[in-house]
Amino acid sequence: MNTQLDLTTVLLLHKSSFLVGAFCFLYARWQSPRDEGLGILASGFFFLALASTLAGYGEQQLLPAYLWTLSSFTLGIGGYALFWIGVRRLSAGRRRKADWLALSIPAAGAAIGLATHFHVVNYIRASVFNATAFAFLAAAALAVIADRNREPLPVRALFAAAMTVGASLCLAVVIGLVKPGVIPITTTYAFFLSIICHFAIALFALVLVKERAEAELRCSADTDALTGARNRRWFLTQLPGSNWHGDCLIVMDLDFFKRINDRYGHQAGDQALIAFADLMRKNLRKGDCFARLGGEEFGLYLPQTSETQALFIAERLRRAVEELVVIGNEQHIALSVSMGLAAGGNEGSWEDLFNRADAALYEAKRGGRNRVTSFSSVTAPASTSMELSFGRVG
Ligand code: GH3
Ligand code: MG
Ligand code: MG
Repeated sequence: MNTQLDLTTVLLLHKSSFLVGAFCFLYARWQSPRDEGLGILASGFFFLALASTLAGYGEQQLLPAYLWTLSSFTLGIGGYALFWIGVRRLSAGRRRKADWLALSIPAAGAAIGLATHFHVVNYIRASVFNATAFAFLAAAALAVIADRNREPLPVRALFAAAMTVGASLCLAVVIGLVKPGVIPITTTYAFFLSIICHFAIALFALVLVKERAEAELRCSADTDALTGARNRRWFLTQLPGSNWHGDCLIVMDLDFFKRINDRYGHQAGDQALIAFADLMRKNLRKGDCFARLGGEEFGLYLPQTSETQALFIAERLRRAVEELVVIGNEQHIALSVSMGLAAGGNEGSWEDLFNRADAALYEAKRGGRNRVTSFSSVTAPASTSMELSFGRVG
């Protein structure tokens, strides 16, 4: 395969691969201004394209050595430093000023080159360049993997793999230069593989931007814009399709909310809704599903929870709401909530389960509000009803 590749064409493709990558990053940056890392990645690839062009002209004797060796070396290392900064920013979305210190590496390389002229010795210049490129590529791959828990996107593995292959290639070149014959790879073949890596890296960086946008879209479609809680759409997708045995559904409705709006203003009412949703989120267990179903009505689905446990949870939440301090329009707003609870049984559909919880909520309202009522208490004899209904008349 080596004999079929000609170096001049491969070198032309090498710099072109950086240019294509840089233009793709620029376009994506324009379309997605929030992903700032793309702009830095584009500048890194432009630097690398320029370094590759100068080195190519130099190798073809079109430029004197003093003009291309140190400049292509510095631009190339600078390109990889920018690449690392760009990947870190793209991966985590964080702005770290300290990352820019990486640019001191090419600056130091240039200063040492001017002082020692190490760059005129081809194998030293190429070894130092590839060793540095290896370090930046490997560090960029690690950053992408390290951020996977923060933002689990499937493409991270492939993006990191492409950079790891690129880093391994640089390492192979260094080993080949230091110990000739150890690695069976020619310069042409190394450049060819590096072109493939550049395309793969650019492609996976763009896929990352796409996957991130899709994840954000999915999340906002499932989130209530005012309270930040999940919405009705999400809630319904979380309910099991059938068999609610052992689970409980609670429907909550804030009491006399219209009065709150009338008395303190609509904005204060909004503040109260936000405070209520925050309080619920803080008090729920992992695995419980909570959502704003609409207006001042919320739903809570408790998987693997008995009716007795659910009643205690609901009562704890009711009390927390009673004690909640909401300041709206510079006044203290008192909140209370009524809850209707239905334990999963033999319902034909989730609408039946909702209807039972709604019926219990209606009873809680009718019974004086600021209370928790279970559907079984609505239909049970009076003594059981006392045990299964909590709360006090507000
Ligand atoms: P009840 O105790 O019987 O539940 O009485 P209520 O006043 O809470 O119930 P009602 O259904 O009469 O009124 C609900 C009110 O909730 C009316 C509506 O303006 C208000 N509301 C619904 N969504 C929002 C919202 O997003 N922000 C604010 N501020 N108010 C809202
Ligand atoms: Mg209501
Ligand atoms: Mg209400």
